[in-house]
Amino acid sequence: MTAHKSHTHFTVTHNTKTSAADRERALQNPGFGSTFTDHMVFVTYTAGKGWHSARIVPYQPLVLEPSALVFHYGQEIFEGLKAYRAEDGRLLLFRPEANAYRFRKSAERLAMADLPEELFIEAISQLVRVDEAWIPPQEVGALYLRPFMIATEAALGVRPSSTFEFIVIACAVGDYFSAESGVVSVWVEKNFARTSRGGTGIAKCGGNYAASLVAQMEGKANGCHQVLFLDAYERRWIEEMGGMNVMMVFDDGTLQTPPLTEGTILHGITRDSLLTLARDKGLTVSEAPYALDQLYHDVQSGRLKEVFACGTAAVVTPIGSFKSSAGTCVIGDGQTIGPVTSLLRQSLCDIQFGRAPDPHGWVKVIQ
Ligand SMILES: *Cc1c(COP(=O)(O)O)cnc(C)c1O
Repeated sequence: MTAHKSHTHFTVTHNTKTSAADRERALQNPGFGSTFTDHMVFVTYTAGKGWHSARIVPYQPLVLEPSALVFHYGQEIFEGLKAYRAEDGRLLLFRPEANAYRFRKSAERLAMADLPEELFIEAISQLVRVDEAWIPPQEVGALYLRPFMIATEAALGVRPSSTFEFIVIACAVGDYFSAESGVVSVWVEKNFARTSRGGTGIAKCGGNYAASLVAQMEGKANGCHQVLFLDAYERRWIEEMGGMNVMMVFDDGTLQTPPLTEGTILHGITRDSLLTLARDKGLTVSEAPYALDQLYHDVQSGRLKEVFACGTAAVVTPIGSFKSSAGTCVIGDGQTIGPVTSLLRQSLCDIQFGRAPDPHGWVKVIQ
């Protein structure tokens, strides 16, 4: 598969809007999702013609018909991955083919056009090359890439669009969860579900996030940083956070995470990578359902030692406490990252930044 080289030609229109001095200033403290690069990618899909007009253009607003289907029926999917600057200057991507594959699965679920995996990777690689100067040094962070697809056909009839735009934007991001202050409190959501069996939970689509925002507000009103969603039927089984998977570490060295079998949990690439690294390190890995009442019980008994959330943006986020209408449950001392969480986080970041050997062939060097 990888032997097949993409021949898609991207036209490039260069942008010189940001001065080097302004860029350097922005890169000192990029935050998350606000420091956008100079360029973006467009590839257009037209039914009958396929994907065409691949282009890199100055970062700019979109022009769409107000009747474009994305605004009315929510046909939208996205991805999130990072480009890293290695100490030796190489530009690295982490498992981009996994994002490309997931993007195709999301498109399939949302009845959108199938984007070839090599075109997805080529678009990202080209953008990283053009905006290379925007990748922060590794002690600061990385370049976050946001590929997405929207339905652009101007029509109000309810049906899949016949035209789509594949777009990639990029922003410099800081490594903001490395500090101890990254320990978060989590609201256990008992009213709203993020998704349900047969729903769109395994697709990475904006609609899932729209459905989760009211719970996020509820969590915030209760003093929490993040929200944990339970299964929609019994409101008992732990599923995931609004945008991160969740993992538990037990006193016997087991790392457990809910299984993907119900089709309600997003197939996180960070999740998969951490399970693999945990196995490499001799931990017992278990993908098994875990009930909220069991969590409370295991915290009480001292069996549950660490809980963390994981995803590309923040990599690993230690969870210090769970809060619900029933009260608060503190994990460990509630403020410090646990040793297993810390070890897994460090191991993954070392591979992503090219500081450690890559035994699983996850890292792709951008040529
Ligand atoms: C993106 C996402 C994740 C994390 O996936 P990664 O591939 O690890 O970034 C987890 N849950 C949801 C709902 C997501 O959208």
